[in-house]
Amino acid sequence: MRRSSRRNVSLAAVLAAVVSVGAAAPASSAHPAHSPAPPPKSPVAVGYGGAVSSVDADATAAGIEVLREGGNAVDAAVATAAALGVTEPYSAGLGGGGYFVYYDARSHTVRTIDGRETAPRSADSSLFLENGKPLDFADAVTSGLSVGTPGTPATWDTALHTWGRKSLRQVLKPAERIARDGFVVDETFRSQTAGNEERFRDFPATRKLFLPGGKLPEVGSVLRNPDLARTYEEVGRKGVDELYRGELAEDVVRTVRNPPVDPASDRVVRPGDLTAKDLRSYRALRREPTKVDYRGLDVYGMAPSSSGGTTVGEALNILESTDLSRASEAQYLHRYIEASRIAFADRGRWVGDPAFEDVPTKQLLGQRFADARECLIRDDAVLTSPLAPGDPRHPGACRSTGKAAPTTYEGENTTHLTTADRWGNVVAYTLTIEQTGGSGITVPGRGFLLNNELTDFSFAPADPAVHDPNLPGPGKRPRSSISPTIVLRHGEPVLALGSPGGATIITTVLQTLTGKLDRGLPLVDAIAAPRASQRNAAATELEPALWNSPLRAKLESLGHVFKLNPEIGAATGVQRLPDGRWLAAAEKERRGGGSAMVVRPSGRP
Ligand code: GLU
Repeated sequence: MRRSSRRNVSLAAVLAAVVSVGAAAPASSAHPAHSPAPPPKSPVAVGYGGAVSSVDADATAAGIEVLREGGNAVDAAVATAAALGVTEPYSAGLGGGGYFVYYDARSHTVRTIDGRETAPRSADSSLFLENGKPLDFADAVTSGLSVGTPGTPATWDTALHTWGRKSLRQVLKPAERIARDGFVVDETFRSQTAGNEERFRDFPATRKLFLPGGKLPEVGSVLRNPDLARTYEEVGRKGVDELYRGELAEDVVRTVRNPPVDPASDRVVRPGDLTAKDLRSYRALRREPTKVDYRGLDVYGMAPSSSGGTTVGEALNILESTDLSRASEAQYLHRYIEASRIAFADRGRWVGDPAFEDVPTKQLLGQRFADARECLIRDDAVLTSPLAPGDPRHPGACRSTGKAAPTTYEGENTTHLTTADRWGNVVAYTLTIEQTGGSGITVPGRGFLLNNELTDFSFAPADPAVHDPNLPGPGKRPRSSISPTIVLRHGEPVLALGSPGGATIITTVLQTLTGKLDRGLPLVDAIAAPRASQRNAAATELEPALWNSPLRAKLESLGHVFKLNPEIGAATGVQRLPDGRWLAAAEKERRGGGSAMVVRPSGRP
C-alpha cells in the first residue's frame, strides 16, 4: 500500500480531531482533511527503496518519510523509534533504553549498540531489599528506585553518528510533528492507559498527559503531546547531551530523586538515587554481535548485557540436529519447547552484564555445548523444570551440572522495529521503558515517561545457593531478553526481526525464526503463528489458538504441562526477497495489528 506519510500523519490528526470527543484541541488547520480514518495499517508490504515495520502506522510512516528523503535504514530506525515515543509512549521513548543491531551493506558486517539503562553508581545487590526482604514487585515498578539512566538518546546519537546520513534534528522532525499535531487514540492505547489508570492518576504530570480532562482518552480522539514536541525540538537542536548534562538531565535527576506524586495520594513512591554524575557518565556501548551458524545461515544477535543473542543462539544450535522441516507439528513444538527450556536454564546461570560477570558468551554459543545439552531431549518424555544449567566451559557429555534455579520474573512490554534501505542496510531495533507505562512517572513539562528497567535485575537470587549473575550493582546493566536478530547468507541479508514481551521475546524470536526457516511459513505467517513459550518453568505458556488445538492433548500425553497466555509478543521483521525486493511484515492481530510499509510498493507478497 502506497501512501504519503506526511499527508496521512497530519490527516489522521485533523480528521480524528473532527470526530474527537473533546479530549484534544483541534489540529492545525494547515492540514487539509480528506478521510475520517486513522492511517491504514497493513501487516505486509513488498517493494523497493526500503522498508519499515513497527507496531504503529504513524511510526512506520515516519521511517518511510525519512527513507524517501534520502535517509538510510539507521536514520529511518531512529525516526520510527522517536515516533513510537509519541504513539507508543508506554513502551518506548527518551526515558528508556534498548538494543540496536545493524547490518552494513558496504562491509557486509553486523554491528550492535547496547543502549541499556544503567543502575546508579551507589547501587548494590540490596537495591530492591527492604529489611532484608525483596520489595513487592509492583511497589518497585512505580518508583524512582527502578529508574536507570536512559540509554535511548545515546543509542540514537551513536547510531546516527556512526552509520547515519541525517542529523538527529532531521530524523526527529516527523516525531516532533506527530507530538505537536497529535495522533489518533486506538483501542490498544486506550486499554494500555486503562491498565495504568490508577497509578497514572497519582502523578499530576502523567495524569495531565495521558488522562486528558481527567478521563481515559476516547478511541478516535486525538492525543497531543506539545511538551514532547518541544523536547524533541530542543534535543534536535542542542544534541543528546541535553539529556545527559543539560537542563533536561537536571529535570530527570530531580524527578527520580523526588518523584512528583500528588500530595493528595497515599501512594508510597520510593525515590531513586540517580545523580547528575550517573547521567554524565552514561555510554551506549558498541559490542560484537553474537553469531551462530544455523543450517548454512549466519544468525546475528545481541550479546550480553542482553541474554537474547546467546539464548536464541544456543537454542538454534540445539535444534539444528533435528530436521524440523520434516517433523510433525507436535514433534516440532516438542523440540522447540525443550530447546527453549534448556537454553533458559543456561541463561539463568551464566548471563548478566559482562562488565560485572565473567559471561562465557563464546562457549554458550559453541556447537559442542549445544550438542551436550541436546542429548538430554527425549522424543517420548519431557524434561523437568527447573532444569539445572550445563557448564559451557566444560561441556561434558549429556549432562546438567550445578543446581537448578527457577527463572526470575521479568516484566513484559516494549516495542520492536525493523528497517531496510535502498543500499541494502538493515536495522533490527528493540527499545523499551520496561513495563507498559514504565515507572508511571512523567518528567514534568518534558512529555515522556521514565523507565523502570532496573526491575529487570533479580531482586534476590531465586535460590541463595545458586550464583545469580543478574543482581544489581553500581552502574550495572540489568540483564535483558531483547533479541533483535539479523540473518545473513554469504554476507547478504535474508531477514531481520525482533519482538517485545520480556523473557518471552527470546521464545517469540526463536519460534518465528524456525517457523520461517524450517517450517517454510511466509514471514508474515511465521509472525502470526500461535505461540508457545517455555522458560525453564513447570508450565509452558500457550496462546489461545494452541491451547484450543488438538496439539495440546498430543503434547500433554508426552508430559507437557501448559497454561494459557492470552497474547505473547508483537513481532516485526523485514525480508530480502530473491528478486531484490524488500518484504516488510508485522502482526496481523496482536496489539491490534502492526504496520508494514515499503518506499515503492511493487507486486504482491
Ligand atoms: N525489559 C525487558 C527486557 O529488556 C523488555 C520488556 C519487554 O520487552 O517487554 O528484556
